[in-house]
Amino acid sequence: MEKKELSDMNPLYDKKVQCPVCNHLFSSKKVRTRFIKSSRTDSDFGMLFARDDMNNPLFYYVMVCPQCGFSFSEDVKRPVPQTAKDRVKIEITDKMDNNIDYCGERDFSMAEKTFKLAIYSGQLIGEKHIAFARLCLRLAWLYRGIEKREEEMRFIKLAVSEFEQSYINSDFNPENTPEIYILYMIGELNRRLGNHNEALKYFASVTEHPDKSRNVKYVNMARNQWKLAVEEYKAKK
Ligand SMILES: [Zn+2]
Repeated sequence: MEKKELSDMNPLYDKKVQCPVCNHLFSSKKVRTRFIKSSRTDSDFGMLFARDDMNNPLFYYVMVCPQCGFSFSEDVKRPVPQTAKDRVKIEITDKMDNNIDYCGERDFSMAEKTFKLAIYSGQLIGEKHIAFARLCLRLAWLYRGIEKREEEMRFIKLAVSEFEQSYINSDFNPENTPEIYILYMIGELNRRLGNHNEALKYFASVTEHPDKSRNVKYVNMARNQWKLAVEEYKAKK
């Protein structure tokens, strides 16, 4: 009993996962919900954390298989075809640095590395656009947290094009990712990039969407961000 209470006080817990490439079972850290304390949530749902906050859940978004090095998020496409597994072996496993333990606690630079590994791993297996969009967006938030504006914008740009591709190819699961959310994100990320015409077009598709009555949150946010985009556009001229 006492032992259980002690372990409950640890902000991190181990989550068991199975590697979709080599089937290895391993555990990766996650942050317990009650220890997640963001300083603000932005209009693209990015949560910001204090620089010295080691309980940043973004640090643990990606899982890195200690056996083959394949890195992935919970959105990973399963099963991974054999030809893709062979590519992972040549490009990742054979070049792996076994001295780094990604299954334990992580700091900013380790977290940054895991996102880049996951993006690369995803490219090798032909990952879904929605998974790339989420990875790029979270890496952008990580950079926003340390005010690395150029890097943040680089990954926002990649995220928006992945959201667009996901929308065009319908590779998202509408049960946990409503289409209206994707449209809102394309609008909002374009606004952040200064592409105001594109932003307005997508915000309009949110407010006119057939599912708007079931997704009032996104409709209200699209209306607010529409106004902001118009103001920003006028200020730019
Ligand atoms: Zn593996």
